[in-house]
Amino acid sequence: MNRSDPKKFRIKSFGCQMNVYDGERMSEMLVDQGMSSAGDGEDADLVVLNTCHIREKAAEKVYSDIGRLRDKDGNSPMIAVAGCVAQAEGKEISRRAPSVDIVVGPQAYHRLPGLIDRAKTGKKALDTDMPAASKFDVLPTRKKQARPTAFLTVQEGCDKFCTYCVVPYTRGAEISRPWSDLVNEAKALVDGGVKEITLLGQNVNAWTSEDDKGQMQGLDGLIRALDHIDGLERIRYTTSHPNDMTEALIAAHGEISALMPYLHLPVQSGSDRILKAMNRSHTTESYLGILSRMRKVRPDIAISGDFIVGFPGETDADFEETLAIVREANYAQAYSFKYSPRPGTPAATMEDQIAPDVMDERLQRLQSLLNEQQHDFNRTALGRQTDILLERNGKLDGQLVGKTPWLQSVHIIAPELAIGDMVDVTIESAGPNSLQGKVTRREAA
Ligand code: SAM
Ligand code: SF4
Repeated sequence: MNRSDPKKFRIKSFGCQMNVYDGERMSEMLVDQGMSSAGDGEDADLVVLNTCHIREKAAEKVYSDIGRLRDKDGNSPMIAVAGCVAQAEGKEISRRAPSVDIVVGPQAYHRLPGLIDRAKTGKKALDTDMPAASKFDVLPTRKKQARPTAFLTVQEGCDKFCTYCVVPYTRGAEISRPWSDLVNEAKALVDGGVKEITLLGQNVNAWTSEDDKGQMQGLDGLIRALDHIDGLERIRYTTSHPNDMTEALIAAHGEISALMPYLHLPVQSGSDRILKAMNRSHTTESYLGILSRMRKVRPDIAISGDFIVGFPGETDADFEETLAIVREANYAQAYSFKYSPRPGTPAATMEDQIAPDVMDERLQRLQSLLNEQQHDFNRTALGRQTDILLERNGKLDGQLVGKTPWLQSVHIIAPELAIGDMVDVTIESAGPNSLQGKVTRREAA
């Protein structure tokens, strides 16, 4: 059956921030092709599900979402499955969900327009290549942005092969985007109204490239170059790997005021035995050493992390060590997950898989400690004067929500202000997940 030419599209991105970035690039590309994004409540005739494969639950979600796209007569819009599930499951997706028209992997989405043309003729279109030519060379330049904050992918893929993780298989080998492409993209984002850029990579601090003078640079060098862009007020980066945390990057936190005092540095477990089985190639000691050197140059830095509980073979004693490292590191915020066996990864076939009820109990204990630490961290902001960048409207009349340098959400009532304004506030109350503030000064226009 031939399909009509799609005019309105909707992109739903799941999972990590790199997927959000990819979703934005796909959207800009489809607009460049003459399509428009479907508004709230409006029907789309192309739906792109930009999927995540990191845990089983996330991966399975795509199939229920596809089912929901069918109307009461069994018709659905043109459906494209993109992202890491597309890469990992390929043809299997069309077998399990025949209403899917297009399957496109994270390194091939720049070919979406050609795949749409094929799908229009009623044929299935599949592209999970990892082409040598980079998608970034053909994607359109960044345009005016709807928000004052933007992601910028600087590094993709991973060569570290942690034994639980699918990323090296779904995103491919580690690559760093070239210096000049990134400086130009950052400038285009700032020209498009962006005031804060978050540099992204699976191991963002492994980024390295020659600069315009032919000198090798690491992430600290790139951050220093971006710091010279007029109008770029805040720079962040995520996610870092402990082994790629250079002394130069740590020092940059003490020297560059636009580099925000926030570090997301996953440790995964507090047990060296489990870290070894995970193939993490760092120890709890080397991890804590980084935090202490970082706190020396930037005492107020907010530390964030990722944890996996219930990795195969994790004993009660191993788990107690995870609680111990959390107490020692003292997190401002953190993500924690139950281990999810992923097909094709070494850990999935390890002995001593942990029972679900044990994982549940461990996750609950870990999360209650992390939540307590997050609330304590938020309370330290009480009475503090700080700048916030307003990012979105709140639920109440005249309410706006902005972020502190430490990535906390602050709610203010200020009908006279707008998204994109940078304002000084005094923090008046602190909950576990967000803060309330009062405006004390607005930046000069
Ligand atoms: N490259 C980053 C690092 O090494 O810390 C992390 C990237 S990964 C996309 C994000 C997080 O997902 C990991 O830090 C880990 O905590 C979690 N994760 C990855 N595989 C997982 C699995 N099989 N089960 C549960 N959580 C997992
Ligand atoms: Fe996955 Fe490990 Fe690579 Fe992070 S470093 S993306 S957890 S394999």
